[in-house]
Amino acid sequence: MTTLDLAELIFPEVKETVEDLEKRFPPRNLKEGAEVTRFAPSPTGFLHTGSLFTSLVDFKVANQTHGVFYTRLEDTDTKREIEGSGKELMDQLIAFGVVPNEGYFGDHEKGEYGPYTQSLRADIYKVVIKDLLIKGMAYPCFCSKEELDALRLTQEKNRVITGYYRQYARCRNLSVDEAYQKIKNGEPFVIRFKSKGFHERKIEVDDLVRGHLYLSQNDQDIVIYKSDGLPTYHFAHLVDDHFMRTTIVIRGEEWLSSLPIHIELFESMGWKAPRYAHLPVIMKNDNGSRRKLSKRKDKEAAVSSFLLEGYPKEAILSYLMTIANSNFEEWIYQNKDKSFLDFPFTFEKMALDGALFDLSKLQNLSKEFIAKLTKEEVYNRTLEYAKKNDAKLQEILLKNPEFFMEIVNIEREKENPRKDYIKFSEIYPKNAFFYQDEYEKLLKENELPFNPNFDKKVIKDVLIDFKDTLNYEVDEQTWFNNLKTLGLRHGFAESGKIYKANKDQYIGQVGDVAEIVRIAMTTSKQSPNLYYVLRVLKKDEVCRRISRILEILG
Ligand code: GLU
Repeated sequence: MTTLDLAELIFPEVKETVEDLEKRFPPRNLKEGAEVTRFAPSPTGFLHTGSLFTSLVDFKVANQTHGVFYTRLEDTDTKREIEGSGKELMDQLIAFGVVPNEGYFGDHEKGEYGPYTQSLRADIYKVVIKDLLIKGMAYPCFCSKEELDALRLTQEKNRVITGYYRQYARCRNLSVDEAYQKIKNGEPFVIRFKSKGFHERKIEVDDLVRGHLYLSQNDQDIVIYKSDGLPTYHFAHLVDDHFMRTTIVIRGEEWLSSLPIHIELFESMGWKAPRYAHLPVIMKNDNGSRRKLSKRKDKEAAVSSFLLEGYPKEAILSYLMTIANSNFEEWIYQNKDKSFLDFPFTFEKMALDGALFDLSKLQNLSKEFIAKLTKEEVYNRTLEYAKKNDAKLQEILLKNPEFFMEIVNIEREKENPRKDYIKFSEIYPKNAFFYQDEYEKLLKENELPFNPNFDKKVIKDVLIDFKDTLNYEVDEQTWFNNLKTLGLRHGFAESGKIYKANKDQYIGQVGDVAEIVRIAMTTSKQSPNLYYVLRVLKKDEVCRRISRILEILG
């Protein structure tokens, strides 16, 4: 019996050869320097913030080198699969605008290098496994789970490295005849790769993020083909990244320890390995100690939670870019009219240690982003948010788009627009007082916070005078000067400085006058610029509100 007989016995249906596959999936016809990257999620749950980070880097690298970014569904571990999560992952990725050029899209596939779903590629993997069997570089293993458990226990007791390797790899030494007979007898088996490595020896490899590395050689005879007819991650990575012609494998640093296996697999096939970039994991500060973002414990691990909260996706992407490249933050503040797409990303500027999730940084980027939008954009984006998450808000927005736009336009169309919104979800609540019924509700629910140092009569006089002389159809400065004159009539100094110097002559200063009017208009001491609040409310409503307050003051 030869290894060829054995390979034919195991895979009689496989007629294609590795050379055929090389022709079926020829090298890509791309310009020099163009990179092919991929995002290869397993369908085991939602889109993790770390996965969005990885795919963003994939996307950037392909995009800025005019290469290809593709997606592949890694669903060979059928036990861990969560029904429907592949499509959900892709929908979320696309919602972020991280759209692949080809690959798995959730409900369809696109591209010449597919299928892009690993469970549909069994025939392709078998061709390569058969080739390794014929060359004697892989072998069937008949060890049962119990035998493997027992082996592990002995190794642990003897304090040697655990696993299936060299003298511990029992089935490695079976003769071809023995293996052939066992398969003929119907004994269950997996197929293992026959490693040539020695743990004591080192390999040298360059990682695009971590630089030049010395790692122990792989010497484990890893399983490459499972009894369910599908390959393991390691083997699927070899075959797919070779035949999909990936040039850079960008993945989380948890895969770094498997790199020697992958390097050996590529060498054994005589294939050029892709370059690798192992990205840092995103950490969280948990009571002073750093730990990985946890799928179970942290809501920020699910990137969709930020969208649900109303953060703009652009701010989330920008935030992830600050983790990717330390100089991005400075760049984006200097290039306010640009997006992360224009930023020249480099692997060299990526931090090695896990980045700490920094909510306040995300919030600042978000404020900057929303401040840059036009009033129409703010309206549309808030409406988009409301449609998905808040039916009542949607109704309010649809009823009077112009009014909402006037509100959000306060101090917007200028060189340094106001940066008061972190999320689309908070724009309406922060401005609810503009709406008549909300204003009435606020009046009912809250005590008016007028300064107790002023007599009720003074407050009323100021408001009556303000109503009688109302004129905001002038520029802001003139309006404010008029307010000063009004204040003077009621004993308020024209400025805080004058008041401080002559406290016996005045009861307060112009800021106090503005506060009285502000409270009357908004029920609160804080609001956007009062002059603009008045302009948005318009004369009738301003007068109505003053009457309401006078009524309440009695
Ligand atoms: N399916 C693997 C994962 O979800 C992909 C790792 C890789 O990018 O190679 O972690």
